[in-house]
Amino acid sequence: MDEGKLYLGIDYGGNAVKMGLVDSYGNLSGRTSQPTSDLLDKVACRAFAADVAEFVHGLGIYSSELGGVGLAIPGIVNHGTYMTPNVKADWPLLMQCLEQALTKTSIAVLNDANAAALGELWMGAGENARSVLLVTLGSGLGSGLIVEGQVISGGNGAAGEVGHMTVVPGGRPCKCGREGCIERYASARGIVQNFIEAGKSGEFDSSQFTNHEPANDTDALAVFDAARAGDPRGKRALAEMADKLGFALAQVACVVDPDVILLGGGIAAGADLYIDALRAAYRSYCFEACAATEIRCATLLDAAGVYGAARYAMLAAPRDKAQRDWLDPDFGL
Ligand SMILES: [Zn+2]
Repeated sequence: MDEGKLYLGIDYGGNAVKMGLVDSYGNLSGRTSQPTSDLLDKVACRAFAADVAEFVHGLGIYSSELGGVGLAIPGIVNHGTYMTPNVKADWPLLMQCLEQALTKTSIAVLNDANAAALGELWMGAGENARSVLLVTLGSGLGSGLIVEGQVISGGNGAAGEVGHMTVVPGGRPCKCGREGCIERYASARGIVQNFIEAGKSGEFDSSQFTNHEPANDTDALAVFDAARAGDPRGKRALAEMADKLGFALAQVACVVDPDVILLGGGIAAGADLYIDALRAAYRSYCFEACAATEIRCATLLDAAGVYGAARYAMLAAPRDKAQRDWLDPDFGL
């Protein structure tokens, strides 16, 4: 990385595109957010690239002051091929347009969950760690994995896809086509399903049920409210979530042994209701050597992807030989 330069982080999500400029000390400036649009042809890609250039230049920054651009995308990044089922974009074309609009700036692309994990490792709740697993609990369950400072993509670009680890063989059907994935039990959707099944189980006295009912199949906040009000369905829903997620995290620890496991996403906002049970479940299932691994909440919230994308650009930026010689070899980029 060039310490005098600024790096642009672009977090291209399914609903919003967030951007910000970050220097090598982690100072973030000029954050912005705009709705996601389809980028399938030259006209759309050029228009987006022009917006990005305007954002950078509008902050008084010349293209020559940019060290690189990190682009986080919601899907699989696998050796120059990209699969983003929730966003329609021609990524290679977009990269070309960005390079042109920002005068030959280099673009580094990574998965958005890995970007968030890298951001947390660098400037958030993973500071001082070298290996971190970030589990993002939203309507689904995403995860990013950094091991020994390296973004881990894997042979198929699917490393660290914790959401589709099987925790209940033959269990609830998942959108991935299989059954019993952890996402079906520990995401917002999973928590609501836990709640509904608890209500139907006949195990509880319905006179103890509160009027906190989920308004839709991802309304986990209503389940949190129910649990706080003492509704046995809410308590059971979160106990089940904690137990199964603790089990899944314990299996991950056996393979990659992260220094810290972080929880992000909207469901992390209710962590006070389940984090003790989650830690206890993790400890009860994990290999003894990993028992002390901390599980805590992420801190950068929705800025994590921008920080991580910019950091990735820093680490991937072309260097001359003199710079390469002093580069931290741990990052290997
Ligand atoms: Zn699945």
